Amino acid sequence: MLTYEQARQKVIEQLAEKKGPRATEEVRVGDALGFVLAQEVKTDREYPPFNRATRDGYAVFAADAKAGAALKCTGEIKAGDRVTKELWAETCVQIMTGAAVPSGADAVVMIEHTKRDGDEVRFERDAVTGQNFVPRGSEARAGQTLLTAGMRLGYAELGLAAQVGAAELKCASKPRVAILSTGDEIVPVDSIPGQFQIRNSNSVSLAAQVRLAGGMPVLLGNAMDREDDLSSKIRRGLQEDLLVLSGGVSMGKYDLVEKVLREMETEFYFDAVAIRPGKPAVFGKCGEKFVFGLPGNPVSTMVTFELFVAPAVDLLSGAEARTLPMVEARLGEALKEKPGVTHFLPARMEGQGAEREVKVLKWQGSGDVSALARANCFVVVPIEREQIEAGERLEVMVRRDLL
Ligand code: AMP
Ligand code: MG
Repeated sequence: MLTYEQARQKVIEQLAEKKGPRATEEVRVGDALGFVLAQEVKTDREYPPFNRATRDGYAVFAADAKAGAALKCTGEIKAGDRVTKELWAETCVQIMTGAAVPSGADAVVMIEHTKRDGDEVRFERDAVTGQNFVPRGSEARAGQTLLTAGMRLGYAELGLAAQVGAAELKCASKPRVAILSTGDEIVPVDSIPGQFQIRNSNSVSLAAQVRLAGGMPVLLGNAMDREDDLSSKIRRGLQEDLLVLSGGVSMGKYDLVEKVLREMETEFYFDAVAIRPGKPAVFGKCGEKFVFGLPGNPVSTMVTFELFVAPAVDLLSGAEARTLPMVEARLGEALKEKPGVTHFLPARMEGQGAEREVKVLKWQGSGDVSALARANCFVVVPIEREQIEAGERLEVMVRRDLL
């Protein structure tokens, strides 16, 4: 059986061959958060486009503005002022943050280091050449490529695109991810379940995870545990970029997903992973489309999506697969778990840096969503470990929607 790292690697290898995007669209820069860029973004001019003061103070020739010297202030320049006059020797000009340093000046002295008396400015320390302004063109040259295809657009990338005037961005269309739940007991979330029925919460949590991963969920509802219903709904799902099923992949008599997929000539890359929860997860390719069968217990579904489906969505978008959101934390209480599988235990992490401590929450196993809703991370118990003492440092997979 594959470890979760090996299984993830399989997904990444397979999807790398299919790396997207298959379609692109123009998106307004203000609406492009989370999209993957499908073009280059270049500067329209030099950055900064003029020698930009980074402090409020006085533009000077550094050689004139020695400690104790006094210079005549001949005017002021504020941000946005058009500067035409050059600085004269033995004078200074008052300047504001963001304003253009007049030509000739080679330093800006902070106002805090000066005393002003009428037109006269006295300097309390030696000015240093190059101080307190950013030279024209030093951040980027004109025509320089700043963003490339495949980059994910976060707030910084969007700010940069906006700065250089890229008001519309060619982006990868979000991969369409079909979500199909299975189970005779499953009813829509807006219905009143019978005593032995269960609302289709997986379709809701999966859709949220698809969105977080950068995909577009396509909800296909639920298939009954019958081969005919499963195969027709799976066929429908295979029309999208990716198909994710929940439930029906365990060993039960009515767990038919794998069987139906096999009959449809799916090639499987794994059909179990050494993890808990989530062991029965399957991944394969049916025709040209990739398909995941995730176990139906809600926490298993959530964990296996994060481990295996999220990187597939990245690659279908034309981006690299993001690494798992893992950090280290000190375990607050001792743990004993069955070795041979990597455990992902709902947990709560508090504190910062070296003080970060994590405690596993009490839970009733992989059906217990209420434990996960109290958790902000999973403690990852390594595959070979059984007893772990309080105080040990362990890897923790954070819930990327919370931390
Ligand atoms: P399965 O993987 O089909 O054996 O399902 C395992 C458990 O998860 C069962 O208790 C199911 O009722 C539950 N389950 C399966 N599908 C869903 C779903 N879509 N939403 C909520 N719970 C589900
Ligand atoms: Mg089932």
